Amino acid sequence: MNRIDQNQLDELPRIRVLDSTSINRIAAGEVIERPASAVKELVENSIDAGSTKIQITYAKGGKKLVRVVDNGHGIPAGELPLAVARHATSKTDGMDLHTIRTFGFRGEALPSMGAAGRLVIKSRVAGSDAFSITVNEGRVLDVRPDALGGGTAIELTNLFLATPARLKFLRTDRAEARAIADTVRTLAMACPSVSFAVFEHRERTSPRKVFQLEPESGTFGKASLARLGRVIGSDFAESTADINATREGLALKGYCGLPTFTRGNTGSQYLFVNGRPIRDRVLQGALRAAYSDLISKGRYPVAALFFSCDPELVDVNVHPSKMEVRFRDQAAARSLVFSAVRQALAKGGKQTAAASSSALYDRFRPEHFPERTRSYQGDGRSQSLSAGFDRQERDQNSGTGHQSQLGNLPPWAEPGGVSDETAAGYPLGAARAQLHKNYIISQTSNGMVIVDQHAAHERLVYEELKRKYEENAAESQLMLIPAIVDLPATERDLLLEASDELSALGLAIEPFGPGAVCVRSIPVILVGTDCTKLIRDIVDGLNQTGKPQALQGRVNEILSRMACHGSVRAGKQLSITDMNALLRQMEKTPFSGQCNHGRPTHISLDLGDIEKLFGRK
Ligand code: ADP
Ligand code: MG
Repeated sequence: MNRIDQNQLDELPRIRVLDSTSINRIAAGEVIERPASAVKELVENSIDAGSTKIQITYAKGGKKLVRVVDNGHGIPAGELPLAVARHATSKTDGMDLHTIRTFGFRGEALPSMGAAGRLVIKSRVAGSDAFSITVNEGRVLDVRPDALGGGTAIELTNLFLATPARLKFLRTDRAEARAIADTVRTLAMACPSVSFAVFEHRERTSPRKVFQLEPESGTFGKASLARLGRVIGSDFAESTADINATREGLALKGYCGLPTFTRGNTGSQYLFVNGRPIRDRVLQGALRAAYSDLISKGRYPVAALFFSCDPELVDVNVHPSKMEVRFRDQAAARSLVFSAVRQALAKGGKQTAAASSSALYDRFRPEHFPERTRSYQGDGRSQSLSAGFDRQERDQNSGTGHQSQLGNLPPWAEPGGVSDETAAGYPLGAARAQLHKNYIISQTSNGMVIVDQHAAHERLVYEELKRKYEENAAESQLMLIPAIVDLPATERDLLLEASDELSALGLAIEPFGPGAVCVRSIPVILVGTDCTKLIRDIVDGLNQTGKPQALQGRVNEILSRMACHGSVRAGKQLSITDMNALLRQMEKTPFSGQCNHGRPTHISLDLGDIEKLFGRK
């Protein structure tokens, strides 16, 4: 064995046990990621304590203050120091971890909060006086008599003041406030009989009530449906189908939105396992799969799924934030979601009758046009049967000006319309027919083109709105009667945050009370569209990434939502003149080869390919 001299040994890093403040700070990194995680832990504690009334107050998106007040059973004075000690909990003795029915069990939320900021816990148990304890950045102070009517009031201030790296990670106050509201709403869905109220604390004025949820009564099913309606939207009950299915010890109840009731993001999909809100990509994937041929790309189903099972069948001790669980049989859970949702939708009313024809439709629909062609033609020469025409060709024809008449619907009816064009000279050819009120068939010099009129028009509207926005020339029209659109407070705020961009796009909105906005003017191109739907869609778009978006990203998202509303629907009969005008417009509009959702707006087939299909070649 080599001899190590003492000097070398001294230079080696030493292993030591960390002090409890450091341990708590490390744990806080996992448990308390942002103010909303503190709210989640505190509200869960209140629910675990049997509270029926929980009040949440925040200041500056929770960065400055998070306060949760409940009417639960309280903490005895003698146990206050334990409540803030690590791995100290009243919810498990450690032997029953596999059968946990409370939200908490790790005993680390309060000490983590005490390490990440300043934590003050006041509590009073029945028949005793109130006491409080303070933990300031890991330092526990003495228990002192205090004043409180009952229950527990916990306040967290100066969050992350000692860890600037964390602080920097936080988003804007509004975004953090939204995350808090979402957290409370989600827990509120899990506990419909508990009342919740959220307030924003403001300097020098009275607190602003963000929202309030009254307790719901009746069976869990009835209370839950009522609560879901209040949280997701009053149309929830009539727009969803009931789910009720069991598979291998796993029961699934809840509601899934009809295919006509969708959102622009996954934000309205809620999963609960034995009453605990969870996130699970696999189950969300299964939900999505159940709708795959029923709703269009870019739309997401609305669903509230409540699993219940023997706690032994699911492990909740996966992550400190307790947002993930592990099913013993993940595949069973996944297929339960898929089959239960399919079944519910099949029964769920006329709207979904179309579902049965979808299988047939699938057999015809090429997943990806070029590949499919290759596979049945057996050779590699199928490029001409492809989506779009090539860039060079289009650029040659794109011209310089944008003399679009899109502002006047029907948008492509240019004055002196071109009715009897010849195929020559136009990449998209001369329109010959409209099939199924959506597909324009045109003849080109060496083949034919099929255009999806809705997709194509959507793209044109999009590009036109975008151009006007970039030129600072958005044209808007004042609404004769301003439209009032009801929105949950957080969504309203989100929309108002974007009001500058919106007005630059020609959409003027103003706050209208706590739960609504008023639409004063809309882009000329959108005159006649359903304002409520438009606004809701824009909010969904803004919500989508879950991250603060760069201005451009935000504008594009709004534009794309507007375009969808402003474009001619499939199902509109068009004259040959209209069709040709649309084709000409497409030729001079950049990126008109695909719609805003990435689908092709047209496909072209050249004579060579047609002849091959008929065996002439
Ligand atoms: P856990 O919830 O995992 O047990 P916490 O650190 O969140 O760990 O809380 C520690 C303990 O403090 C809990 O087990 C509970 O006994 C007590 N406690 C926390 N919040 C409350 C509350 N609002 N009402 C009553 N007791 C509470
Ligand atoms: Mg807890």
